[in-house]
Amino acid sequence: MDWLPITKSSSTWRIQPNFTDYQKICADFTWDTVRSELDGLPDGGGLNIAHEAVDRYAAGESSSRVALRWLGKGGQIKDFTYADLKAQSNRFANVLRSLEVGKGERVFSLSGRIPELYFAAFGTLKNTSVFCPLFSAFGPEPIAQRLERGDARVLVTTERLYRKKIAALRPSLPKLQYVLLADSDQDQDETVLSLPRLLDAASPHFIIPPTDPEDMALLHFTSGTTGKPKGAVHVHNAVLTHYLTGKYVLDLHPGDIFWCTADCGWVTGTSYGIIAPLTHGVTNLVDEADFEAERWCRTLEEQRINVWYTAPTAIRMLMRSGMKPREKFDLSQLRLVHSVGEPLNPEAVVWGEEALGMPIHDNWWQTETGGIMIANYAAMEIRPGSMGRPLPGIEAAIVHRNTEGGIELEDQPDCEGELALRVGWPSMFRGYLHDDERYRKCFVGGWYLSGDLAQRDADGYFWFVGRADDIIKTSGHMVGPFEVESALMEHPAVAEVGVIGKPEPMIGELVKAFVALKPGFAESEELRLELLGFARKKLGSAVAPKEIAFTGNLPKTRSGKIMRRLLKARELGLAEGDISTLEES
Ligand code: ATP
Ligand code: MG
Repeated sequence: MDWLPITKSSSTWRIQPNFTDYQKICADFTWDTVRSELDGLPDGGGLNIAHEAVDRYAAGESSSRVALRWLGKGGQIKDFTYADLKAQSNRFANVLRSLEVGKGERVFSLSGRIPELYFAAFGTLKNTSVFCPLFSAFGPEPIAQRLERGDARVLVTTERLYRKKIAALRPSLPKLQYVLLADSDQDQDETVLSLPRLLDAASPHFIIPPTDPEDMALLHFTSGTTGKPKGAVHVHNAVLTHYLTGKYVLDLHPGDIFWCTADCGWVTGTSYGIIAPLTHGVTNLVDEADFEAERWCRTLEEQRINVWYTAPTAIRMLMRSGMKPREKFDLSQLRLVHSVGEPLNPEAVVWGEEALGMPIHDNWWQTETGGIMIANYAAMEIRPGSMGRPLPGIEAAIVHRNTEGGIELEDQPDCEGELALRVGWPSMFRGYLHDDERYRKCFVGGWYLSGDLAQRDADGYFWFVGRADDIIKTSGHMVGPFEVESALMEHPAVAEVGVIGKPEPMIGELVKAFVALKPGFAESEELRLELLGFARKKLGSAVAPKEIAFTGNLPKTRSGKIMRRLLKARELGLAEGDISTLEES
């Protein structure tokens, strides 16, 4: 099927989007203007993320607005106003100060999405220490590795997680001085302390010390989709991107209720699950529970979500469940749905129109970029399958590496090459922790090379082809797995697909697809042949898979990304490499 562009007439806008004239805004854009829309610390004290996201709304009228609405797993609801969040994060900053934890020192978190995590994040930033959130479902080994590589001095966690995953490893982590238990009223010893007790004893007043915009603020480990996770370093200046993308991509407006479903253990869950919405003074919904189709749809309805930020894996799960949310739930408040993390098949974009009442807006970025770089915008035409156009202030290009170690910019439309970004945007990572060499290699001639392959069309829309590592070379063609996966996704029996190149002496690599079926469809030789024919018809025989295998579940990272390298390793009987982020199936 050729996917028609989804045009958006202004008569259908429920609210005037913040971003309507792409050419004009891009032409007039400066980062200085963005900076001028932020506050800065008083008396020229610099720029601190926590001030921009919390304290500047914690005075006057907005102070009583709900900053954080927390839904507990068991149905409890707790609201924290901007004033509450300011006081609680101040207390946390004072706790760090009392423990003599200083500037640049790392404060890790390992917990589910509990309110204390948010107090800790902002308190850490206020103290000019570095916040590093970990995903709570990691096993002990990956946790220990990250704590060690990140030089953790403090860890905020829960009693159960401490007992289960950390206690036995403490002797191997001599730098980890304090563990703060968010749900324990009593200290266990001099180093394992009760966070509630410390918060109660701490003052709710704290003056943020001068913060250089280049001071390190966040440390995020990448998803480990292609190999060992890297620790990406971010600075306070990243808040300019958080704010700008909140305005132009998430299209946040006063009074909005925003929900990002990502866990804070991944960069999306911090940049957008903690920071960006608050820089606009809106209400940020946090759901402690994990994905469950009914619950999520009910939450969209009951919490009257206006803007929803989720991931392809969740959308595919909803599609797989066969449910059409808007037939069962009142989604009249929902204005905009965004997705990130993996390619979003055109099928899913269009499914959104029917099932949610609006298309899904894909956007692209990485842990390294700190914030959204390429997006589909509320007011602009969507081309299903495209990641959209670069954010104002971001120069994106398609480049080719040459044999002299340099790059050449591709100026023709629709040509495949590596997606690169001109260096210098505020949330660009400032290093891979303890790996300068690898960091340096990401930059050539003033461009950051993303490791993703893409195409740009004549109108400036970018189309994801695949990760450079996943590209399949078959009979002289380069095949991007995304193209093959998207074609198979159009078949009614297919729920999910992962495509790899399998070495084959005659043709280099053979395209092989692993297919998970929707409920109600059974594996059979007949269906396998049907899928092979279906793909051949759509893609032509040069690109279509030559082999298809059925699988119950595809191996995914815990953030929901298909791990094609693992499909390949298993197919070829090779070592599986770093699987610390592999989801348990
Ligand atoms: P690692 O670098 O450890 O292998 P990772 O690249 O998956 O893991 P992240 O930084 O979380 O870690 O993910 C960024 C990557 O996710 C991008 O480089 C891209 O490959 C993929 N991605 C993100 N958004 C999109 C999108 N909208 N379309 C296609 N791919 C996307
Ligand atoms: Mg990566």
